[in-house]
Amino acid sequence: MRTREKFEQLEIENLAPYAMKSRDSRGRKFKEADHPVRTAYQRDRDRIVHSQAFRKLEYKTQVFVIFEGDYYRTRLTHTIEVAQIGRTIGRSLQLNEDLIEAIALAHDLGHPPFGHAGEEALTAIMKQANYKGFNHNMRSFQIVTQFEKRYPDFDGLNLTREVLVGILKHQSSYDEAGFLTEYRDEGPTLEAQVVDFADSLAYLNHDVDDGLKSGCITIDDLKESELWCKALERLGNNVHFHDLEMLRYQVVKALIDMQVQDLLWNTSQRLPGLNFSSAEDVKVYRQPVISFSNQMKALRDELQSLLFNKLYNHYRVLRMTNKAKRIIKALFDVYLKEPNQLPPEVYPRTGCSEEEEYLIICNYIAGMTDRSAMDEHKRFFDAYTKV
Ligand code: MG
Repeated sequence: MRTREKFEQLEIENLAPYAMKSRDSRGRKFKEADHPVRTAYQRDRDRIVHSQAFRKLEYKTQVFVIFEGDYYRTRLTHTIEVAQIGRTIGRSLQLNEDLIEAIALAHDLGHPPFGHAGEEALTAIMKQANYKGFNHNMRSFQIVTQFEKRYPDFDGLNLTREVLVGILKHQSSYDEAGFLTEYRDEGPTLEAQVVDFADSLAYLNHDVDDGLKSGCITIDDLKESELWCKALERLGNNVHFHDLEMLRYQVVKALIDMQVQDLLWNTSQRLPGLNFSSAEDVKVYRQPVISFSNQMKALRDELQSLLFNKLYNHYRVLRMTNKAKRIIKALFDVYLKEPNQLPPEVYPRTGCSEEEEYLIICNYIAGMTDRSAMDEHKRFFDAYTKV
């Protein structure tokens, strides 16, 4: 049997000097005894998988809302892809896979229903009440530090500091965490940076796949992308063009592989020159280290803007996202007009300012899935549905 001490020893022997070792973690806010078998990051990963917010990812939109069909990625399957790609990158760079997995599984917990459409709708509403808007990274952080209630001695999941910083800063924009002064000066670990790239890598490629499947983009559209053409070239004569399903699957597979390999080669050429001798050195450095080559960056940007023009702005996708925004807005208005329609454990019956009401309603809606938001909308607006 292997114990936690043995796993910690294996990390020291097998991981790169700049990898984050679980034994060197800055620890948890509330002191807990170490687990006999699992390392700190393995334990964090398990807590995330067993959280309520994680299970809700199944019914949240990535790009295509759940009513569009069951082929498309949901937040849950996207999250699993991010964790898988992140672990591949992390293993090759000799980083801590458990830390990568924990951050990856938590990275989208804070998304409201209907993906970015939901985020935009909530941001617009919250700005009316002088809030900065709605930030899904901040909400992920709040979920794991406050909203999950499973432990008698503290709110949240009491995750390690490295996972919390990874959740807050996973979107490269280090300023986003700026208003949490406690974390402002701490750069993300290489493991957190890997998740950031695995996230953008996963969605660029699965959006190509989902976009083709939906018919919103075509193979002809994608021929304008040099990266797509290179992936096609790589396949040679192995795939028959008339078998579109197979073609789609094989090109997307080649796209992921080309990008992962580029990221690995580029980063591993860069790392020795930075002379990191510990994960602390990475945190203090604060600049992004993991990156694609300039050539791959340009190819990805081109494909990204093609998707933006042809897929995210496709009339069918716009109909879907605008409908989603209307649902969020309608629910918000209904609650705001008469907050006593909210359950008492959500909305205290006395002493709430209008500003607090906005925040309570925002949190309540953000905690819904696409499915529960649509059900709630039906309860309010369909005369024949039970309230
Ligand atoms: Mg994501």
